[in-house]
Parts: sequence; C-alpha cells; structure tokens
Amino acid sequence: MGGLFGVVSREKCSIDLFYGTDYHSHLGTRRGGMVTLNKEGHFSRSIHNLENSHFRAKFEEELKKFDGNSGIGVISDTDSQPIIFNSHLGKFAVVSVGKINNISQLESEIISKGRNFSELSSGNTNPTELTSILITEGTDFTEGIKNAQDKIKGSSTILVLTKDGVIASRDKYGRTPLIIGKKDGSFAVASETCAFSNLGYEEEHYLGPGEIVLITSEGYTQLSPPGKKLQICSFLWVYYGYPTSSYEKINVDDVRYALGHALGSKDKTELDVSSAIPDSGTCMAIGFASGKKIPYRCAIVKYTPTWPRSFMPSDQSVRDLVAKMKLIPNKSLLREKKIAFCDDSIVRGTQLRDNAQTLLEYGAREIHIRISCPPLVFPCEFMNFSASRSPLELITRRFILEKEGQHNKNLEKYSDSGTPEYHELVEYIRKDLKLSSLQFNSIDDLICSIGLPKESICTHCFDGSSFGG
Ligand code: SF4
Repeated sequence: MGGLFGVVSREKCSIDLFYGTDYHSHLGTRRGGMVTLNKEGHFSRSIHNLENSHFRAKFEEELKKFDGNSGIGVISDTDSQPIIFNSHLGKFAVVSVGKINNISQLESEIISKGRNFSELSSGNTNPTELTSILITEGTDFTEGIKNAQDKIKGSSTILVLTKDGVIASRDKYGRTPLIIGKKDGSFAVASETCAFSNLGYEEEHYLGPGEIVLITSEGYTQLSPPGKKLQICSFLWVYYGYPTSSYEKINVDDVRYALGHALGSKDKTELDVSSAIPDSGTCMAIGFASGKKIPYRCAIVKYTPTWPRSFMPSDQSVRDLVAKMKLIPNKSLLREKKIAFCDDSIVRGTQLRDNAQTLLEYGAREIHIRISCPPLVFPCEFMNFSASRSPLELITRRFILEKEGQHNKNLEKYSDSGTPEYHELVEYIRKDLKLSSLQFNSIDDLICSIGLPKESICTHCFDGSSFGG
C-alpha cells in the first residue's frame, strides 16, 4: 500500500521527517525515500531499497545531509520516490501512494504530446513521475493536482514539496487517509496518525476526499474543498493500519476489538481460550475473548528482537519462511486446549495452514480460526494491496474455479453469507487448512464495527461493490 509523511517547521525538520516517515514502515516493503528543501532552494534527497533492511538503518547515517525546514517522505510498495521536478511551476518534489489503473493510456497521451519519462520503476513508467507530469499541466499547483486527480483512474494521494510549503492532496474518493498534525512551530501531514504521538503533534485536521491544502509552519490553507463522495478503504482498519492510528477519527484498535467482540458474542463453539496470530490479530482476539467470555492468552508470540514487523521481504517464499520463524508457539499453554485463533484475513491461506499444523503438533487439541473480515473474493483495484497477485492466488478463487470451472463465475453468491455457496466456500477453506472450525465476520458486522455509513466505505474486496475507479 505505502504511506506518506510531510513536515514544515520553523526549525530544521530532518528528525521529525525521519521518524515520521519511519512510523509508516508497516505499510510498505520495497522502497523508502525522503527529500528536504532548504532556504536556498536546494533539495536533498535519498531513496533506498527496504527489501533487506529497515528504513531507519538505511537513512540514519545520512541524516546530516537533509538540510532545510520542510520535507516529505514515503514508504512505497512499488516505485522509487520522491521525484524532483523542474517546470514552469518552479522546482518541486512529489511522493504518492495509490494505484493508477489507466497508466498506459496516460503514458501514451503524455508521450504523444512530445514529453518524456526519465524514471522507470521495474522497467515500467514510474507512477509518481507520471503524477508529477500531470501536475505540470496546470497553470498552478492546485490546477495541476486537480488535473492529475481527475485523469487518474484508481487512487492517488499526493504530497508536493514546494518553496511555499507542502501541498497535500487526498485521493479523489478518500480511499487512503491523510491527516494534518500540529505542534508549536511545526505542522505535519501523515497517512498514519500513529506517527504524531511521539513527535509531539496533535491531530488538527482530517482531509476529506479529494481535498487539497497548503501546509506551512504557521498553519494550513484549503486550496480545494473536499468532494462529497467518500470511499475509505475498510481494510485499513482490518489489516493495514497501526492499532494506535485513526482514520476519519475512528481508532484502529477500537474497530478490531469490536470486530472480535461481534464474532465472539455469537460463537456457540466450545472453546478454552482466545489467542491471536500476532500482530494484526491481537486487538481482535482481545475483543473475541470479551465477547465469548473466555480468557485471552498468548498461545503464539512474535519474536520481536530480531524480526520487527517492518522486515517483510518481497519474495513470497522468503516471506513465508520469515513469517514462520518469527512466531513462537507457547507449548505449555497449547497442550490439550481448544483454541480460537484470531487473524485479520485469509489471502492465500498457506501461512495459516502451516501455523495451524504447527499448533496441533505442539499439543493443541482443536484449532478454531476466527477471521475479522469476510472472505476476500475480489482483488483490490484501487491500491497496491494484492495488486501483484492474480485473482487465483486468493484461496476463495481457487475454490470457485474448482467448483464452477471458471474462477470468476457467480462471485456474488460466494460473497453473500446468506447463500449455500458461501457456506460451501467456508467449508472448503476449513478443510484445506485442516481446522476444527472456521468463521468469518459478516460484512454487516464489519460496517457496524467501523461505524461509518456503508456508502462511505470501500468493501470491494469482500463484495465486489464499486464506486469510481
Ligand atoms: S478493494 Fe479492499 S483493499 Fe482495496 S480499497 Fe477497497 S477495501 Fe481497501
């Protein structure tokens, strides 16, 4: 997915920029980048590959070179950023998160106008460079950013570092969040509010969908008002987000607890304890324990000293090995227990199958998996979540292919928890993962736990519903 952080201060900004960007490391695994701008108009930029190391380890040594009172940073799952541009608008730098579905069409249009691309991202056009070119089509930054937001199909949340401050633009339908924070002498903007607390920022303003603001060290000015239609990603609360963050002023831990409580209070299975597949299942497992009125225990624990969450190699086989090695089962607690294990979601299912098998080998009597969201039936079209996966990598589509002869047939039936097809799908996954039982939250409980109206939340990956794009 990726995350953004920007800061404008009366003082040098590099420390806030460094830690603020680092607090988005859970959102991406491939590239990290920072750029600052000093009073002389000079940009200092670095971009590093994060596939084998952490953001802090890569940037710490270079901190002295980041001169200036304003800067932007990014953790990216795709392209190398920030991009620095010189144009009729002046010099500026850009970072962005999202997914441009019509990138080929926009690329052809730009090339047909005689313009060029200089940055490539794995041999393809760099989406942030394309966004920058679209910005330069405007007579000023506001017009240019609106031009980019109108032409991009998918989503793009953008920070632009200019001599006048940082311009922040949330994507047109607000699928990804952007929040302004304030402290004495500085304003910051972040995808994740968890970046604010330790740096002393208080939440000041949640940008609406498509809203554009200019941020300076003295405050912020709205350049373009928010649109009426919000489609924030529900998966932020389920999986992506950090528990201490909030989106639309709704805290991630609150939602995960409510999701667990909703599932636990309806669960009729005989269970001894609730536990989590760490980390993202933890808040849910505590809520499940409370709803089911059973103890919450740590039956499996992440070994954090050498396997921090941010270390996520992009290679799937290495990722699977890391995922296994960093979770340690608590043998003495598992013995003879009927355990409810709570997890955020099931994508391919391989990791969960391995975890369940290990827990049985360590003496658990029964493994019952509880999932905080409905089954994932549709790949995400709006962000880079599962973008690199074909639909067939989803365990749900593998079953649908087996059953229907086509992986994309009758999808609405398999995503509706009231149909026999849905129950067949859940039973297939349960058997495939060798579980005693398996339950998913319903879409209604997901929406109710978030607390926003259904029409304001993107639930596309669960039910195929869509707006914009
Ligand atoms: S499709 Fe899923 S992951 Fe993508 S924006 Fe919608 S809810 Fe989020």
